[in-house]
Amino acid sequence: MTELRSGSSTDTGKVRANNQDTLLVAAPLFAVADGMGGHAAGEVASLTAVEALKAAFADKRTPGDLADAAADANRSVWERAQADPKLRGMGTTLVALALVQVAGEDRLAVINVGDSRIYRLHRGELEQITTDHSLVQELVELGQITEVEAETHPQRHVLTRALGVDPEVDIDRLEILPVKGDRYLLCSDGLPREVSDNQIASVLRRLARPAEAARQLVAEARAHGGNDNITVVVVDVVDDGDQAAAASEALAEDPGVVIPLGIGEGDDEEATGSRQGPGRRHRSSSGAERRAERRAERRAARRTARAEPTGRPVTLRVVGFVLGLMALLGAALVAIGVYARGSYFVGVTGENLTIFKGRPGGLLWFDPTVAQHTTLPVTEVLPSRIPDLQSGKEEATLADAVQYVRNLEQEALDHGIGTTTTTSTSTTTTTIPPSTTSTGAAPTTAAPAGAGATTAAPPAGATPAPTTAATTPTSPPAP
Ligand code: MN
Repeated sequence: MTELRSGSSTDTGKVRANNQDTLLVAAPLFAVADGMGGHAAGEVASLTAVEALKAAFADKRTPGDLADAAADANRSVWERAQADPKLRGMGTTLVALALVQVAGEDRLAVINVGDSRIYRLHRGELEQITTDHSLVQELVELGQITEVEAETHPQRHVLTRALGVDPEVDIDRLEILPVKGDRYLLCSDGLPREVSDNQIASVLRRLARPAEAARQLVAEARAHGGNDNITVVVVDVVDDGDQAAAASEALAEDPGVVIPLGIGEGDDEEATGSRQGPGRRHRSSSGAERRAERRAERRAARRTARAEPTGRPVTLRVVGFVLGLMALLGAALVAIGVYARGSYFVGVTGENLTIFKGRPGGLLWFDPTVAQHTTLPVTEVLPSRIPDLQSGKEEATLADAVQYVRNLEQEALDHGIGTTTTTSTSTTTTTIPPSTTSTGAAPTTAAPAGAGATTAAPPAGATPAPTTAATTPTSPPAP
């Protein structure tokens, strides 16, 4: 029988006027939500999400139940925002951890939307097990900025996914084997923004009682600046009923297995069973590394696939067949290439809008390239246009794309937002790897939200902050 012990702490910080974070400690369910939106909207969003999550999960006990509860929470926040003009545009992050049952065995289920985080301290090593849904995280994964640059990036508050902004949301899911001695940390971004992973790990190793560790982490975040609300929940696995030891041999060798699951997979049992192979383990310390691993795996798989035909005796007929097949493949590739590179889209990479050649997110290995940098900052675009831009607004020709940017600029000016003059400057051919991918190996295609580029836009009419979907105006870099 798995036994958990928890402790928590939350604080407004030293800069903000109110605490828009909400935490939930209701064993076997734990959650942290970080709300955003003008005035009181952020608080309403996080509180609504957590209450709805708790109500929907109630006495349910499977990983699917947790994901369903998160989807309910999303709908609750969204409906509330629709019903009240003052709350329009509000959203929240949500991370949750729950003790669940899979085929009669205990598991820890994790869900994530946004940039709150869950870490695990496993055998003294700290590992972030969720991947942030933020613009800077995407830029890090694209290799455009480093993790260090991400910490001070002007758009580090911009989320690519948030709860309550659309009627449906793509939810990252993980299933983890509970292992006695493991310690989980759920936190809002106010903690990692001020306190390094090493410092977090040190506190988690040093202080045995979860409540004590939680209080200390909040105190350190305050001491390092406290620029944002800080919320921490620490959950210890104090007993796993020897389940980890008794698990299958593969699991016993590596009890730290994390099983990424896609959303909308109805049968949890089957999903678990089919994904426990050794190739599915991700123990590295960050989402970026996990993704790099997966890319390497895919590359290796392609190499293997190419090598295979040479494994048998080669006859003339086989050679002919292979040549024919290659010709066909070549023709198909050309066709796909023409399609993949045959259009333009307007998107966001740095602070300004950028016109890309290609398809948003790329197609196969045809990555979009920058066709034209514009001088229109994303902060001078109506918030309602941001979701379109983050998923890539497609246009048939470069001229259409340029016109679209001009229209955005004019529209913003009409609304009293814009200040700059015209578009377009340099033309380069920098390769931009695909954007807007999802995490946790979760297939995103099923989600109506599409490429997962939802933005928590500020309520219409809000003063344009330096960042588009910021939970706060750009704050000074953490010391
Ligand atoms: Mn925050």
